[in-house]
Formats: sequence, C-alpha cells, structure tokens
Amino acid sequence: MQARFYKEEHQIFRKAFRDFVNKEIKPNAEKWEHEKGIPRDLWHKVGEQGYLCPWVDEKYGGSGAGFEYSVILHEEICRSEVPGVGGMGVHSDIVVPYIHHHGSEKQKEKYLPGCVSGDIVTSIVMTEPEAGSDLASIRTKAIRDGNDYIVNGQKVFITNGITCNLAVVAVKTDSKADPPHKGISILLIEEGTPGFSKGRLLEKTGANSQDTGELFFEDCRVPQENLLGEEGEGFKYLMHNLQQERLIITIDSQATAEYVLEKTIDYCKTRNVFGRPVSRFQHNTFKIVEMATEIEIGRAFLNSLIEDFINGKDITLKVSMAKWWITEMVNRVAYHCTQLHGGYGCMKEYYVARVPGDVRSMAIAAGTNEIMKVIIGNMMGL
Ligand SMILES: Cc1cc2nc3c(=O)[nH]c(=O)nc-3n(C[C@H](O)[C@H](O)[C@H](O)COP(=O)(O)OP(=O)(O)OC[C@H]3O[C@@H](n4cnc5c(N)ncnc54)[C@H](O)[C@@H]3O)c2cc1C
Repeated sequence: MQARFYKEEHQIFRKAFRDFVNKEIKPNAEKWEHEKGIPRDLWHKVGEQGYLCPWVDEKYGGSGAGFEYSVILHEEICRSEVPGVGGMGVHSDIVVPYIHHHGSEKQKEKYLPGCVSGDIVTSIVMTEPEAGSDLASIRTKAIRDGNDYIVNGQKVFITNGITCNLAVVAVKTDSKADPPHKGISILLIEEGTPGFSKGRLLEKTGANSQDTGELFFEDCRVPQENLLGEEGEGFKYLMHNLQQERLIITIDSQATAEYVLEKTIDYCKTRNVFGRPVSRFQHNTFKIVEMATEIEIGRAFLNSLIEDFINGKDITLKVSMAKWWITEMVNRVAYHCTQLHGGYGCMKEYYVARVPGDVRSMAIAAGTNEIMKVIIGNMMGL
C-alpha cells in the first residue's frame, strides 16, 4: 500500500538507502548476530551518508528532513536482518529528539552535530530494576550540591547502553514531590563522568546484535548545566516523547511483519512437499492469506497514524491502539512464518527463525501493551 505522504524524492531516498543496506549491512547479518553487536565504525559510515538523525536542523549538521525520511530509514533497517542497526533508529528518532525538543541552545550546539555524524551514540535511560511501567517510582536520585547534581542509582534494559557516550537519564531531583512524578528531571550524562559505569551486556531472547545494557551511577557528579529543560518537568518530557517512541516501535513492527511474510511467501512457493509447493496446500494458502490481510489492516491504520503525526495532531490514543495491535500482530506473523518453514524455521542461520525472538520485546519496550490498554481505557473514560 503506497502512503499518500510519499513523493518521488522519498522513493529515490528509499532506493539509495536500500542499496546502502544491501551492500554495507545485510551481508554481515549472521556474523553480527553471532558477535552480539555491530561495529562502532558502522555508526560513522551511516552518519557520513546523512542517515543518522536526518531531521536535525542544518545549522547543527543535519538535513532538516521531514519525518517521512525517518519512516523510510526504519522500514529499510527492518529489512536489513540486523536488529542491532535498530539501535541507530533508537538514537536518531527516540533519544536525540529529547535534546532537540527540550535542550538549551548550548546543549544543542555541543551534542547535535556529533549525534548526526555518529561520533556520539545516545541512549534513553528510564527503566530501573524496580521501576518499569511505573516510571514515577524511579529511585535514582540527583541531589543538588553547589553547581552540580550528585547522582546515585541503577538502570536496566537500556538500548545502546554499552555503546552510548551520552545518556539521557531520568532521575529524581525531589523524592518528596507529591505527586511523585513531579520530582522527576532529566540529566545529560556523558561517558567518562566519574561515577558513571556500564554493567553487563544483557543476553536477550532475540535481537542479539542489539546492545541492551545496565548502567550504574555512584556519587556521579553532573554539572547543573547538563539538566535538560527545567527541574521537575522530566515526566512531562518523557510522556511527550514516548508518543514518538511508540510510533517508531509500531513502524518497526509493521515493517518487520511485511518483510518476514514476503520472505515466507517466496519460500513457500519454492519449497516442494508431497510433489507441490508448500503454498499450494489449502491450510497454508489460508494461513498466508490471513497474515496478508492482518498486515494490510495494520498498514492502513499505521499510514493514517503517520499522517496524523506529520500533520501535528495529538496521536496519544491512536498510537496506543496501534502499538498494542501491531506489535501483537508481528508476533503472530513471526510464529506462523517459522511454522511454514518447517525445521528450517528453527535454525538460527535462517533469518525467519530469529524473528520470533527479535520481535518479542516490541510488545514490552516503550510501555507494555497492557499499559497501552490502560491509556486507551482512561482516554475512553472507562
Ligand atoms: C529489548 C528492550 C529494550 C528496552 N530499551 C529500553 C531503553 O532504551 N530505555 C529504557 O528506559 N527502558 C528500556 N526498556 C525497558 C522497558 O521500557 C520496560 O521493560 C517496560 O516499560 C516494562 O517495565 P518492566 O520490565 O519493569 O515490567 P513491569 O512494569 O514490572 O511489568 C510486569 C507486567 O505487569 C504488567 N503491568 C504493569 N503495570 C500494569 C498495569 N497498571 N495494568 C496492567 N498490567 C500492568 C506489565 O504489562 C507486564 O506484563 C527496554 C526493554 C526491552 C525488553
């Protein structure tokens, strides 16, 4: 389904990026999954081509490109078969927007050019071992001491956690605030700041090449000038930016479902059992038809959501609906596509076999699907 918001220049851009992915990324898929990471140098290569944060203003080194270009980058990354490259999408369209939306001029000048070139890798650092869905209950404290904050606490499940050299960290600057979310602020904490250390690269059920780590702050002294926006406004910033984060995860889920079904149809048409292609058995034909229908429904909903977002509409309700439905849909598609591959669907050297593990976290990260339904229920006045 061709979205109304694409023009000819977008299709030219898509082709150029797909060629880049096919040359520089896809051939390494199995290797990087096995090595559990992508080379740091790839960030620079991608940055040099203008594929990191293309939306950033030209005065900070970006191209000032529209959101359509970010959508294309995400969709094509999902066809690369390297989930680790998804960390670049998290950097470009989830973390860096915090600096762009809420940062001071000085912070933008200092950090944005490096974010565009690939010199700086960022992470968004909210979740703690005892606080995920209930973000207001985070315990990482930042206590004022002269012109600095002293930060103590622990974070977990952080995408780009091990690679990052700039962490955008949610902290409690007022642990007595009532309600508690009014005590949350955001600090920009640079790698190398004494007291900021990285823990384990976490072993996940999938997306092995994507870096997910633990971060620790122990008497970490952060200058007050690294406060993002205003003290006590952090929760508001998180709730604002989480809408785009949920949209991005939904785009990734939809694009992955489309790609894995495409690959499965090719396989089912060429693999013969009992003298005919797998796709020619009515059960399998119906299964493929059902998946294609769900994917088409997801695409129609998603395109209208992207259009709303581009037009500056409030997408909170619609993105919460899309996130739970499309992330569950890609999990269903992943299951049935591996089944249609028979034994090959269980072999890690086959991309399709990795997909169920890769997409599992889509229904959890950036707010679980249960939290999406809580939001929808509240907005429906239930
Ligand atoms: C691969 C991956 C990458 C991630 N990347 C990042 C990152 O970059 N930065 C970051 O800060 N975090 C990141 N996260 C963390 C993610 O945002 C949290 O895991 C998520 O918000 C859920 O929090 P939790 O794990 O503590 O689960 P919990 O909050 O403990 O939830 C446990 C269960 O209870 C359910 N539940 C919770 N509250 C309610 C409720 N009110 N009603 C009904 N059910 C409820 C949940 O849906 C879930 O099923 C990542 C997670 C994963 C898996």
